[in-house]
This record gives sequence, structure tokens and C-alpha cells, in this order.
Amino acid sequence: MAEGRTAIGTGGSRGIGREVSLRLAALGYDIAIVYVGDENEAAETVKDCEANGIKAKAYVCDVSSFEETKDVVAQIRKDFENPVEALVNNAGITRDGLIAFMKESDWDSVLSVNLKGAFNMIRHTAALFIRNKGGRIVNISSVSGLMGNAGQANYSASKAGIVGLTKATARELAPKGITCNAVAPGFIRTDMTKNITEDSSELLRTIPLGRMGDVSDVASAVVFLLTSPYITGEVLRVDGGIAM
Ligand code: NAP
Repeated sequence: MAEGRTAIGTGGSRGIGREVSLRLAALGYDIAIVYVGDENEAAETVKDCEANGIKAKAYVCDVSSFEETKDVVAQIRKDFENPVEALVNNAGITRDGLIAFMKESDWDSVLSVNLKGAFNMIRHTAALFIRNKGGRIVNISSVSGLMGNAGQANYSASKAGIVGLTKATARELAPKGITCNAVAPGFIRTDMTKNITEDSSELLRTIPLGRMGDVSDVASAVVFLLTSPYITGEVLRVDGGIAM
């Protein structure tokens, strides 16, 4: 049990993030969920987390904003008695397009949410972890960031950036007893991939295990890294073998 600990999960209201919130709640973590707009999903996830007898609260905050993330971390610190010991940077978006036609705004928004968002959250929680003499950070990357994906130059760049951010943070904060790792999912069934059908034999041919992943496949890897004191700077693929 993780009694007396608080975890912050960005994008913790839906999809992969929701499953991570529920798993951590079952382990006894208090949960602070950061989301940007879907109030109903956030309220539902808070209720389901609370069913484990822990404290859960949802916060509207755009992770791409330095000021909003600073304020939300300060508010979470005020609201939760138990120390913040874990951060899961999971919030992410796609704005796919061919690079020759990609809008500047689509490049900027994906980099701002996916990469700067993770920086912002680490930037504002690092001091708490250092003061507590420990902490665990898990960032969600993607196989798109490891291999590159045609039509996703912005997304692939943001997720490759997450790998560099993870490794630099891991090296910098290791002397303070803080670990930082990444999970790189492949094709996982969520709202983000609702337009991809598994019927496509072309897609299945790229996945050695022959199926899309479930949110539980990714959440298991996140929980493993959050509970592993001697692993840091690792990028754990959860992709059915795509990027091996
Ligand atoms: P999802 O179902 O679309 O959920 C995205 C979550 O991020 C939602 O909770 C959303 O909040 C939140 N969010 C989006 N923009 C935000 C912002 N600016 N500030 C704060 N929160 C924000 O996505 P998912 O499929 O679970 O993906 C989760 C993570 O895994 C992402 O980083 C994604 O890139 C990565 N990933 C997914 C796959 C996949 O196949 N699904 C594969 C590889 C990597 P609202 O509900 O309020 O909109």
C-alpha cells in the first residue's frame, strides 16, 4: 500500500490516464487529476478513484501554460495533506498532417502540450520532490517518437523530445533520490485512436503480437516504473513489439 502519498496525473481523466489514476487509487495513492475540458469524464474518474477510500480531486489546467501549471501544483499542495510523491505526464494531443502542408499552429500546439507540458509539470514539482528527498516521474512518450511516423512530424518530434527530457531529468535528479522514466505505447485503444480500426490487416502486420493494446497494458508499465526504486532513465515500450 502507498498510504500517505499523493500522485499527480495529467490527462488523468480519460483513456490511458484514467486507467493509471484508477490503478494508483487502488494502491492507496491520493490522486490529483489534471485535465483541460471534459468535466464529465473527470468527475466520473474522481468518483471511481474515491471508491478505493482515497482522496481524489480534478483540476482544470492547460499543461502547456507555465503559469497555469505553477498555480495548479501550488493548489494541489494546499489541498492534499499527503506529500506529492509521483507525477505522471500523460496529457497529449495529435494534430496529424503531412509535413509539406502542416500548419504552424498544429506544430506549435502539439509541441506545447506534449513536450512543454511535461517540462512545465516537472519544473513545478521538482522542488517538492527534492524537499521530500524522493519522487517518481513517468512521462508518456510513444513509438512514434522512437521510430518516426509519416504524417506525424509534430507528434513524433514531441514524443522524441520526451525521451531526451526523461533522460536529462533522470541524470539531474538521481542524486536527490528521484527517478524519471518513460513509457512508449504503440497503438492503444482510446479516443485518440478511435479512427484506427483493427480490421486493417496493414496495421496488424506492423504489430508482431497482432493486436492493438489496451489501456491496462500501459497502466501496468506506468505502475511498475512508479514502484521501481532502482530504474531510472528507462524508456519502456508497450507496443506489441512494433519498435523492437
Ligand atoms: P486521450 O484519450 O485523448 O486523453 C487525453 C487526455 O489528455 C485527456 O484527459 C485530456 O483532457 C488531456 N489533455 C489534453 N490536452 C490537455 C492539456 N492541454 N492540458 C491538460 N490536459 C490535457 O489520450 P490517450 O490515448 O489516453 O493518450 C494518453 C497519452 O498517451 C498521450 O500523451 C498520448 O500521446 C500517449 N499515447 C497514446 C497512444 C494511443 O494509441 N492511444 C499511443 C502512444 C502514446 P480532457 O479530457 O479534458 O480533454
